[in-house]
Amino acid sequence: MPTYAFPPAPTVGAPISGTDALFPVRRIYCIGRNYAAHAIEMGHDPNREPPFFFQKNPDNLVFGDAFPYPPRTADVHHEMEMVVALASGGKNIPVERALDCVFGYAVGLDMTRRDLQGQAKEMGRPWEVGKAFEHSAPMGPIMPVARVGHPSSGAVELKVNGKVRQSGDLNQLIWKVPEMISYLSEYFELAAGDLIMSGTPAGVAAVVRGDVMEGSVEGVGAFTVRVV
Ligand code: MN
Repeated sequence: MPTYAFPPAPTVGAPISGTDALFPVRRIYCIGRNYAAHAIEMGHDPNREPPFFFQKNPDNLVFGDAFPYPPRTADVHHEMEMVVALASGGKNIPVERALDCVFGYAVGLDMTRRDLQGQAKEMGRPWEVGKAFEHSAPMGPIMPVARVGHPSSGAVELKVNGKVRQSGDLNQLIWKVPEMISYLSEYFELAAGDLIMSGTPAGVAAVVRGDVMEGSVEGVGAFTVRVV
């Protein structure tokens, strides 16, 4: 057994529907601009340019129903997404074998300090301050493939205080789940425990303290997160 200078941080465990066992999270990859309508609202070409990725940290995940409003921002946006959880990985995974790597799917929010992300974009700087902050990744329980299959169509929706803000469909994903896994595996060695946030449909907007976000992905699940 190795010894450590101080106790190591615990492994982050994501709840899995139907079992007490937790999903040990290794890395979180997020895909950008994966719905044409969202690419357009952010001022980009909706055509099928290669996907790009950024990361969040496992300890940015939130499994409860509260999202604490983060510091150093005045413009925090919701991005409702389907999360893909991997049971295995590898390098250079062919598209036709990519779904074999999937453990399950979950609902998630890619919460974004849009003002800081905007400054980073303008200055050609990395996105971590905008994307990878504490509590920036609220997530529902993982639904195993045995329960939900591999959803490729179904409504992706986010309501804030009862009003629909984001509305899309999984069938609008520019890069489908097998393609995003395959593409990502050309750049990184994927492994069991990795999560992929698959991108958000149009309608991203700001939240304030007290707002109640209700997110759902048809066939995967729903959750409610309050901004506190
Ligand atoms: Mn996103």
